[in-house]
Amino acid sequence: MTEPKRVRQPGDRDVAPGRLALVQSFVNSVNVEFGPDEFASVAGLTRWMERQGFAAGLPAPSESDRREVVEVREALRALMRENNGATADPAARAVIERVAANCPLVLAFDETESPVLRPGGTGTRGMIGQVLAIVVEAAVDGTWQRLKACHEHRCEWAFYDRSRNRSGRWCSMAVCGTRSKMQTYRRGLRAPAGAR
Ligand SMILES: [Zn+2]
Repeated sequence: MTEPKRVRQPGDRDVAPGRLALVQSFVNSVNVEFGPDEFASVAGLTRWMERQGFAAGLPAPSESDRREVVEVREALRALMRENNGATADPAARAVIERVAANCPLVLAFDETESPVLRPGGTGTRGMIGQVLAIVVEAAVDGTWQRLKACHEHRCEWAFYDRSRNRSGRWCSMAVCGTRSKMQTYRRGLRAPAGAR
């Protein structure tokens, strides 16, 4: 697997550390607010996989493979909302468990002869298996809890919160933080009808 491409992050944040950057890139394959969605077509999904060092496999992913990938992506985004203080989303967990059942991981030895878990499948299911294996690793080492979906509901960009007390709420304080606060402010004003 090649090193994930470094894309400039909102708020000049650094991408998530190590392999977790792949999970971040997976969830950010769509810009929720402005598009585009790289997984909107099988061709786009194939291009994303190749860029991340996965062989899309033969035969090419099917439309139902594509839909499954999108389902997992949005379920992971829901878990990243939880990492940012949202209430638990049992439906998202159910999606991940259902899909994960078809994405086996097998024991292998890496170049340092240490045991690791690798996807047993190929194609999109191999890729999903890899993404989910990284989530498990990150949950164990404590980095997963820092990968959050932006609290501004129009945005939901996956960002990595490096703050000491894990208090980051927005991908960018200047953009999403400000508009989120403006919205709260406007709601608070509650001008009487016809006042303006
Ligand atoms: Zn944001």
